[in-house]
Amino acid sequence: MTTRIGITGAAGRMGRTLVEAIALAGSELELVAAIEQPGSSFLGADSGELSGQGRNGVPVVGDLSEVIGKIDVLIDFTVPVATLANVAECVKHKVAVVIGTTGFTPEQLGEIERAAASIAICKASNFSTGVNLCFQLLDMAARVLGDDVDIEVYEAHHRHKIDAPSGTALSMGQVVASALGRDLDKVAVYGREGQTGARSRETIGFATVRAGDIVGDHTVTFAADGERVEITHKASSRMSFARGAVRAARWLAGREAGLYDMQDVLGLNKIEL
Ligand code: NAP
Repeated sequence: MTTRIGITGAAGRMGRTLVEAIALAGSELELVAAIEQPGSSFLGADSGELSGQGRNGVPVVGDLSEVIGKIDVLIDFTVPVATLANVAECVKHKVAVVIGTTGFTPEQLGEIERAAASIAICKASNFSTGVNLCFQLLDMAARVLGDDVDIEVYEAHHRHKIDAPSGTALSMGQVVASALGRDLDKVAVYGREGQTGARSRETIGFATVRAGDIVGDHTVTFAADGERVEITHKASSRMSFARGAVRAARWLAGREAGLYDMQDVLGLNKIEL
């Protein structure tokens, strides 16, 4: 059976890549709607042409409610406020949602959790298979190295990214903190400047770089006296995220209500992200 996909933020960097990923995904998935915000200069444009794939006959529209009736799964990579409005529309129409947007406040995350009581939602700060493998490796490293190491998370992204640290960096910090029984809100240190004093062992430091066209680099360092372990992931194309989100959409179709993540889609051990 074909799963009918809608994309919000269809003219964005991820949206265009998602249009391409769906075109490459085979006949089980069909792009039926491409949505941007009202007033976008891309309204009416062919979403296939925008993605560089040639015409696909799916024009960009400015209102999700116009097209929601024909969508089985919505894939949303936009901004938090737009994602929440789109999720509310999906709740009304019982449409499943894949959420790739990052930068939600705790209150906004609560709204998503409440929505997941009535529809299936798959939310991940990073849909790449490699990053999700790294979460498992980080969990193992933290458990083995324990409190004998200093832990620092480094991330680098392109100059257009609007939130920091990246959702992926925060998830990596969360994996490590959970494995060590620490509360990330209490031990996270976001940047250092001036007379910081010596580092205390339980802190987890975050460093952010924004430059050029970097798609997404993440490294977690576990540093002891005499040795250090570094777990690194480097994304060289947005296609790694898009392929994962499309895989999640296929997995989510017809699933019962609940909040899932990419660990569920990949069938990996459940770890707290
Ligand atoms: P982007 O290029 O700015 O794309 C966002 C798109 O959403 C833009 O086209 C924007 O339109 C559109 N938009 C804004 N408000 C909207 C609304 N109300 N309705 C419909 N469309 C709306 O950003 P991006 O690089 O694609 O990233 C999008 C999000 O995905 C970010 O939060 C980013 O961190 C996240 N991300 C997640 C992953 C992952 O694997 N989970 C990977 C990459 C990126 P305008 O340009 O008109 O504002």
